[in-house]
Amino acid sequence: MADLSSLKGVSESDRRMIADAEAMLGPEPSAMGFAKNLFWGRLRSEMLFPYPPADPDETARCEALLATLDEYLENEHPAIQIDQEQRIPRWCVDRLFEIGVMGMIIPREFGGGGFGVTSYNRALERIGRSCGSTAVMVSAHQSIGCKAIVLFGTEEQKRRWLPMLATKSLSAFCLSEPNVGCDAGGQQTRCTVAPDGQHFILNGEKKWATSGALSDVFTVMCKQSVTDPKTGKTGDRVTALVCTPDMPGIDIFQKNRSKCGIRGTWQARIRFKDVRVPRANLLGQEGRGLNVALTCLNYGRCTLSAGMLGGANTAFEQAVKWAQTRYQFERPLADFELVKQMIARMAARCRAMDAMLYATTAMLDRHDDDIMVETAICKVFCSEQGWLVVNDAIQIMGGEGYMTENVVERILRDSRINLIVEGANEVMRSFIFAYGGKQLAERLLGIRQAVAWDHHDSVGHNLGRIFRTLKTPGFFGAAASVGAEVFLGVRRHAPDAPDVHPSLEAHAHALAHAVREHSHAFIKSSRHYEEAIVTRQAVQARLADSAIYLHAWACVLSRLDADLRAGRSGPAFQQDRAASLYFMDTARRHVRESLDALFHHDDPAMLAAADATLAHFATLPNGTFAIHEASPNARGTGRPVDTSQIPQFPGDTPGGGGGANGNGLHDRSVGYQPTSPSPSGPADDEIPPELTTRLQP
Ligand SMILES: Cc1cc2nc3c(=O)[nH]c(=O)nc-3n(C[C@H](O)[C@H](O)[C@H](O)COP(=O)(O)OP(=O)(O)OC[C@H]3O[C@@H](n4cnc5c(N)ncnc54)[C@H](O)[C@@H]3O)c2cc1C
Repeated sequence: MADLSSLKGVSESDRRMIADAEAMLGPEPSAMGFAKNLFWGRLRSEMLFPYPPADPDETARCEALLATLDEYLENEHPAIQIDQEQRIPRWCVDRLFEIGVMGMIIPREFGGGGFGVTSYNRALERIGRSCGSTAVMVSAHQSIGCKAIVLFGTEEQKRRWLPMLATKSLSAFCLSEPNVGCDAGGQQTRCTVAPDGQHFILNGEKKWATSGALSDVFTVMCKQSVTDPKTGKTGDRVTALVCTPDMPGIDIFQKNRSKCGIRGTWQARIRFKDVRVPRANLLGQEGRGLNVALTCLNYGRCTLSAGMLGGANTAFEQAVKWAQTRYQFERPLADFELVKQMIARMAARCRAMDAMLYATTAMLDRHDDDIMVETAICKVFCSEQGWLVVNDAIQIMGGEGYMTENVVERILRDSRINLIVEGANEVMRSFIFAYGGKQLAERLLGIRQAVAWDHHDSVGHNLGRIFRTLKTPGFFGAAASVGAEVFLGVRRHAPDAPDVHPSLEAHAHALAHAVREHSHAFIKSSRHYEEAIVTRQAVQARLADSAIYLHAWACVLSRLDADLRAGRSGPAFQQDRAASLYFMDTARRHVRESLDALFHHDDPAMLAAADATLAHFATLPNGTFAIHEASPNARGTGRPVDTSQIPQFPGDTPGGGGGANGNGLHDRSVGYQPTSPSPSGPADDEIPPELTTRLQP
């Protein structure tokens, strides 16, 4: 198969980015997942039809836990206080441990609930309905914080840490750094093996570790110089280490910063200075840490989606009732067609998010090999659709929607982060395009390289080479028809439509047809844009959007099929049915529009407008703008950071925020405390004095 990194006409930095991406992604999975197959024009119906059922025993266990959780959320959980006071009281964390939510994914032998991904996400959805901050705190602990130990830990590591993580201690995931945001592979935190061979020496700084100042265990990603035993080549690779806050040299110098939403969560800045980390704390293998991080993100991307689904459902339900009971022009708002449109959109989006989320968690539960494109699609789809739902809900509620006591404004603030974290959606779209279509792109490149006409060679030689290539057994293999499509523009047959309830057959056939069009458009645009497609993100995003909507469409179809076969009825089912049918119509339109726009778009004007704007701003002085603390070309030239009007957190002083000027102060004797070690301090439920003084009128 051709190697994409050997493409001509690709700049050195793009080539390096491709090589990095390939190193990150590791070897190709042997079996391609549902989403990758869409790029090949295949519908692997057996992976999604019938809608993957949940295990009945586990479902029963989960229902019992959810009943207790619902009661807690309804009667005790102080969601408004958490948002207003910017902290989750320790008693809430303890109650969630007690209920069993905080250890759901930890195997039972280590004191956890031993639940699968679906059950765990159902709990996250419930929490997201009530409190976005708590959903993120729970997810940071389990999906990314201790998941690495569950998946990659040795028996000894699991025995050592999992029992406490299941019952009382929080954990944090330390990937981001001042200079590491979307570019997860660019860590500057480094470890080296100590002369005794039994320790790693860790140096660097981590940023934004959720619950970092409250955790007893951190999973830390760092760079290490590693020699490949096969090739003998030495290079920088990422290694994952487990650290605990009591290790000498660890300084949590900033516990949190005030922010737009999920205000109850705390993001820490942590400095590591010559920290001696025992070899026993190595997670997985040296140099394989990015695999640890990316695998964990598969889970984090689902729980982010579950929290978003919960919040979107709350906003949607609130807005529908509002539309029925708020009168203007002597009619309920719900009588107006444009309000109806928002109601239908919200219903369709919530239904589709639900169908996609639980299809994805089922794939994870059955340990599908190739799942990264599906979890990325789920994250992008749910974060964006959820955000749109909440936006419509606020619109329907008008001015009242903007008021704090009506809840939706908090959901709006809490939701915005979902488009940025766990892979910014722009990066995710490029990833869905590149990783989803990678194997097909390589096959296309191979065909082109092998079959291309060489103008310096004779006609006879050219023809001879082409015929020899075409006759080589296995060259085209499954892609023989792809070759015909590349050279002759012949569309292949649409894949077989999934076997569904008779009333849905037309939708199934339309889906199969759209899958064929998606694959054809991918092939056509690869040929049209050639190497330029590597940097043409607007083009990539259209193909990604087409894949996202195809996947969503398939999930919704499968879910409705399952409902119909199960004989569901009643008003709630009729709502779901109509919402599903509406969603499938809109998905069809989105796919068509995304593919049409591949060749009919306003990209030249868009790029010209962006370039002109950038040129104008290059003439303006930096001094009045926020400039990133790690900017290589403008660091320190921006508007001075002024946090004097912003509530600060215990142990952090004004001026320490804003990232650039971390003050190095870390006072662990106040505010939140990790459960161990447990220095004395004020009761956890006491509001930090800094906050009370500032928040009082
Ligand atoms: C509340 C909160 C909680 C967090 N929790 C954790 C945590 O627990 N652990 C942890 O390790 N990190 C955490 N993070 C960090 C988070 O993962 C990063 O914020 C995220 O990865 C984005 O990085 P950045 O903010 O530096 O944005 P940048 O990398 O500077 O990107 C900014 C924007 O640029 C665009 N962009 C960037 N790269 C590309 C590209 N290649 N193509 C197109 N567009 C691009 C995107 O629009 C992106 O949103 C948290 C952050 C926040 C705010």
